[in-house]
Amino acid sequence: MAATATARKLLIGGEWVETGEWLEVRSPYSGDVVGRVAKAGAAEAKAAVDAAEKAMTEPLPAHKRAEILVKVVAGIARRHDEIARQIAAEAGKPLKAAKVETSRAMSTYTFAAVEARKLAGEVVPMDAAQAGEGKLAFTLREPIGVVGAISPFNFPLNLVAHKIAASLAAGCAVVLKPASQTPLSALTLAELEHEAGLPPGWLNVVCGPASEIGDILVADERVRAITFTGSADVGWGLRERAAKKKVLLELGNATPVIVHGDADLDEATSKLAANSFSFAGQSCISVQRIYVQKQVYDEFVKRFVPSVEELVVGDPADEDTDVGPVIDDDARERILSWIDEARDGGAEILTGGSLEGDLIEPTVIANAAAEMKVCREEVFGPVVVVNSYESLDEAIALANGTRYGLQAGIFTADIRAALEAAQGLEFGGVTVNEAPTFRADQMPYGGVKDSGNTREGPAYSVRELTEERVVVIDL
Ligand code: NAP
Repeated sequence: MAATATARKLLIGGEWVETGEWLEVRSPYSGDVVGRVAKAGAAEAKAAVDAAEKAMTEPLPAHKRAEILVKVVAGIARRHDEIARQIAAEAGKPLKAAKVETSRAMSTYTFAAVEARKLAGEVVPMDAAQAGEGKLAFTLREPIGVVGAISPFNFPLNLVAHKIAASLAAGCAVVLKPASQTPLSALTLAELEHEAGLPPGWLNVVCGPASEIGDILVADERVRAITFTGSADVGWGLRERAAKKKVLLELGNATPVIVHGDADLDEATSKLAANSFSFAGQSCISVQRIYVQKQVYDEFVKRFVPSVEELVVGDPADEDTDVGPVIDDDARERILSWIDEARDGGAEILTGGSLEGDLIEPTVIANAAAEMKVCREEVFGPVVVVNSYESLDEAIALANGTRYGLQAGIFTADIRAALEAAQGLEFGGVTVNEAPTFRADQMPYGGVKDSGNTREGPAYSVRELTEERVVVIDL
C-alpha cells in the first residue's frame, strides 16, 4: 500500500496539523507500511493542552455533547467495514475480531451519550442531622477539567472510544496520546468527532514519543486527570509522578479460570479455546491459566487440545483467521522465551510451542509450576497453561496467586461453588459459565491489586471524570 495513501495529520485546536516529521505505521503481519502519522513532540502536546483548556472556557451543554456522541455512532456504522480493516492492518487483529471491536465502539459511544444526558447530582437529606435543619443541599457534578488520555495498541478503536466518549460525556476536553503502533483508528475517531460538529479543542490527538508527550501530560497542572490503559509498570509509574492528579489505571492481568468437576465440559472447552487465543492472546483478559479439577482434568485436556488445534492461524485480513501475529518481533521473542522457560523447567507442551511461519502457534502447556513466568506474569500471547487442582479452596488460592486482579472465571453447575468463587477471587470481575474474557461495554470494568484502580464503562468513567460540588442553601 502506498504510504502516502493514509498519511494522517494530528488534530489540535480543531485544526489538522503537520509537523514535518512522520511516524510510520507497519502491519505486524507483513511489515508493510499501512499509514503515516504526523509526529508530535512536547510543543504539540503543550499546544493541545492549551487548546483543551481554552475549549473548556465555553462549556458544551449536555444535549449537544450527547448529540455529537450519537452522530459518531452513525459515523462508525457508515464506515464499519473500512474501520475494521484498518484495525486489522495496523494491529494485526483478525478481521472477525476487528469487526466485533468496531461494533463495540458503537456501543461505547451509545452508552456515553446516555450518560451525558443523565449526568446529575443528588439532593442531600439535610434535616437528617440537627445541624442541617432549615437548610436545603444538593450536589452538582462538575467536569474534572482537561483529561490526558493514553491508550494501548490492542484495542486501538474501542479503548480510545472508552476514553474520549466518556470524557466528552462528562464535559471534559481531552488530549489523547494513542499507542504509537496503532494511531490510525484513533485519528479516524477524531475525524468522526470533527465531522459530528465537536467544537475546536474538545478533542486533540497527539501521536509521538511516549515519554515526551507523557511528561507534558504529567507535568502540566491544567491536566486534571490522566486516564491510562496499558501495562502495569508504565501505569503505576505515571501515578507516582502525578501525585496531584487523578490517575485512572486500567492495566494487565494473568487471567485465570477454574473448571470445576461438575462443569459442562463442552461449554467450557469451546469457550476457553476461543478466548485463550483471540487476537493471539493480546487482550488484557485473554484466558492464560486454566485450573481443572483433578477428576475431569484428562477429559478436559482430551477435548480442549483438539479445539485449539482447529483454530486457523494466518493473515489477519482473511475472514477465516482466528489467530494472527503478535504486535512485534520483541513480543514474539519474549513469548517464545517464556515457553522455553516452561519447557526447560519440566512443563509439558501439549500443542504448539513453536512458530508456524512467523506466527506463534496456539500453545497449551500442562503442569507448569506456579513460579514460571507463564503462570506468574502476563504472557500477552497465544499461550495457555492447564493445571489440575483438588479442592475449590486450592483453585481459588492458585487463581489469586499473582500480582494481578482484573477478571477471573469459573465453570460449574453448582451455585454454591459459583458464589464461593465470586467471593473468594480477588478480581474486579468474576464470570460464571462464561470465559473471563467477556466484557460488555456498559459493565464496570477494571482491576484490583496491580491491575488498576478504577472502573471503565461510560457510567463509571463519567463518575470518575466529574467532581461533586455541594450547594447549601439556608431557607
Ligand atoms: P504500554 O506499553 O504500557 O503502552 C500503553 C500506552 O502507554 C501507549 O500509548 C504507550 O505509548 C504509552 N506509554 C508508554 N510509556 C509511557 C510513558 N513513560 N509515559 C506515558 N505514556 C507511555 O502497553 P501496550 O503494550 O500498548 O498494551 C498492552 C498492555 O495493556 C497489557 O499489559 C494489557 O493487559 C494492558 N491492557 C489493559 C486493559 C484494561 O482495560 N485493563 C485493556 C487493554 C490492554 P507508545 O505506544 O508510544 O510507547
